Amino acid sequence: MREEMMPTYAPPEHMVVTHGKGSYLFTAAGKKYLDFVSGIAVNAFGHANPELAQVLSDQASKLWHTSNMFRIPQAEALAKKITDNSFGERVFFANSGAEAVEAAIKTARYYHHSKGQPERKRIIGFESAFHGRTIATVAAARNKAHMTGFFNGDLDFDQVPFEDLQAIENTITTQTAAILLEPVQGEGGVRAFSNEFLKKLRTLCNDKGILLIFDEVQCGVGRTGKLFAYQTTDTTPDIMSLAKGLGGGFPIGACVTTAEVGDTMHFGTHGTTFGGNPLACAVGGKVIDMVLAPGQLEHIQSMTQVLWHELKTLGGEFPKIFGEVTGKGLMVGMVCIPENTQLLVAARDRGLLIAKSGGNKIRFLPPLNVSAPEIKEATTILKHCAQYLIQEDASLA
Ligand SMILES: *Cc1c(COP(=O)(O)O)cnc(C)c1O
Repeated sequence: MREEMMPTYAPPEHMVVTHGKGSYLFTAAGKKYLDFVSGIAVNAFGHANPELAQVLSDQASKLWHTSNMFRIPQAEALAKKITDNSFGERVFFANSGAEAVEAAIKTARYYHHSKGQPERKRIIGFESAFHGRTIATVAAARNKAHMTGFFNGDLDFDQVPFEDLQAIENTITTQTAAILLEPVQGEGGVRAFSNEFLKKLRTLCNDKGILLIFDEVQCGVGRTGKLFAYQTTDTTPDIMSLAKGLGGGFPIGACVTTAEVGDTMHFGTHGTTFGGNPLACAVGGKVIDMVLAPGQLEHIQSMTQVLWHELKTLGGEFPKIFGEVTGKGLMVGMVCIPENTQLLVAARDRGLLIAKSGGNKIRFLPPLNVSAPEIKEATTILKHCAQYLIQEDASLA
């Protein structure tokens, strides 16, 4: 029945997942996989988490959807949890990461519009960025492979090399509205912006009245060891987009901002039918509670130590197969010297699911409640992969 699907994806033909439990997935053919992809940083507490399943089914038996024509207490409660624990004072809910970034883009542009500077529409982003697959978010990331065939012109987005402050200064004009970045780039290579660079960028934005937008769709909600990635730095953004982990597997997105910026988005400026529905927000509220539960962030920090140590040890053991370890917290990239696809497939054949990332890296996104033995299991499988690659090609030894 695959022929009826638009061919936008290429999943492995013979792997059909039927159910999951914690960090593991199970297939129709009876195979078990250790899942260090987590639905691309979505299943924050693994698969079929009983606490999340309970909240979802309780809400499902009460009320799923009413639309934003009516007040949604679950959305108001989630907005309060997010703002109580961040710089944020106003939240707009969406259904996905791209929509959360889209809301951030519209909010930044409308802020300047409402301040009497309608010419300020341009947004500067960074090379290797990823912000989603809608027209505007593709235009923002300026990845040729994603743009070709879809629009003409730059749609008011500029791009500069990673951490190039001089290039930013040269690109800023009186039309610049905002600077957009992922505090830890995900798809483009699992690279974290340095604290020093972000501080300089914040100063520059303040001097020029430019808004700073952090796309935390992948790196937010506990993944870095803090609730939000910006909290691992000395820099606070003006607008932040969230999604992926926020729903623990249920689709939800959010655009978070200050009252000064958020309140310019008056009635009628933006909207969505599904965004902020009771089901998604009930689950999202539980996810935030679970990330903030006593010991959970500390657990993420200590599992970070274990995972980074194991991967660096592996790299030391196989220097012709693995290189630098990058990223932050439980969002980790490792450079591969052979093609990363080879490692991804070898790992999958041996029961470990990992993702790829730019710069020929493999990417690890284990659930936030991963255990030390599970990390050890993953790195043991990777070791077997390395031994297998050496068996096939002795020059890798
Ligand atoms: C995944 C991702 C998006 C897009 O999210 P979707 O839910 O796929 O629309 C945006 N920004 C970042 C940083 C992401 O990782």
